[in-house]
Amino acid sequence: MATLWNGLLFRIAKHWIAGETYEEAMARAQQSNTRKVFGILNLLGEEITAQEETIAATTEYLEILKAIDARKIQSCISIKPTQLGLGIDKRLFEDNLGRILATAKSLGNFVWMDMEGSEYTTDIVDSYLEFRRKFDNVGLAIQAYAKRSEDDVNRIVESKGIIRLCKGAYNESPQIVFKGKDQINRNFSKLMRLMFEGGKGFAIATHDEKLIEEAIELSKVHRTDFEFEMLMGIRDKKKIELVEMGYRVSEYIPFGKSWWAYSVRRIREHKSNIFLLARSLVSG
Ligand SMILES: Cc1cc2nc3c(=O)[nH]c(=O)nc-3n(C[C@H](O)[C@H](O)[C@H](O)COP(=O)(O)OP(=O)(O)OC[C@H]3O[C@@H](n4cnc5c(N)ncnc54)[C@H](O)[C@@H]3O)c2cc1C
Repeated sequence: MATLWNGLLFRIAKHWIAGETYEEAMARAQQSNTRKVFGILNLLGEEITAQEETIAATTEYLEILKAIDARKIQSCISIKPTQLGLGIDKRLFEDNLGRILATAKSLGNFVWMDMEGSEYTTDIVDSYLEFRRKFDNVGLAIQAYAKRSEDDVNRIVESKGIIRLCKGAYNESPQIVFKGKDQINRNFSKLMRLMFEGGKGFAIATHDEKLIEEAIELSKVHRTDFEFEMLMGIRDKKKIELVEMGYRVSEYIPFGKSWWAYSVRRIREHKSNIFLLARSLVSG
């Protein structure tokens, strides 16, 4: 019974993840490349508590970077700090990330750092700024729902860092984040403007039509280099439309065995995904 249930849930999760292996993720990236959409491969997994697992994740990212290069796939990678050991020991995390950044740099590739729950934000931003002094091939996700993000954006823009602006996906307290949709969107617009005015090479990571339109308008005034980023399985037609308009678009492609937490976040943030879940259960 548990296996049957697991199989059904995996079928739904496949809407947002490429599969359990990096071969499947690379195949998805190649498919996206044919539509001029770039890939961002993400090995699922977070809050890792065993050192060996953080080293295994690091090794897998190194293999992926080499495979992307060998097969000439247009794709970078995105890591989660707690997958590389931030929840165990900051030094362990920085050793693992340092190895990934050095390999990516030698291959001319780029690494995004995802932002996680608020208990890690200070460490992640500080590590990012430290790494940025040595590596120009690293960017950091910043969450528009977080009240501290304006300061973080200013610090990163000042140090010529590279930001991926997203709304934020974790369940946080109202002391730390804006809770209302309108407040989050207003902060997103404000931060996006700061990035267009002072940043370069950044990413606008949203599926929200109004915010995408705002970014397009800002891009006509501030002719800076940026890209749109969206998740696999969400607004696929919009990705192509933006490419046809001449914008650079990347698709975040998660894969791996730890697909559960990621899929729950996607179901929770959009009610219609409950129907997707129900339809899969009914159709067996
Ligand atoms: C490339 C990328 C990287 C990200 N990295 C991080 C990160 O490092 N840390 C972090 O906390 N969060 C990250 N996120 C997730 C992000 O914070 C949001 O949780 C998620 O993108 C949904 O927000 P939205 O901007 O699309 O707006 P929403 O207000 O949630 O949605 C706007 C519209 O988009 C469509 N839509 C949005 N989500 C779905 C869905 N699940 N299914 C179907 N339609 C949907 C709908 O049309 C909806 O009306 C990332 C998102 C992207 C795109």
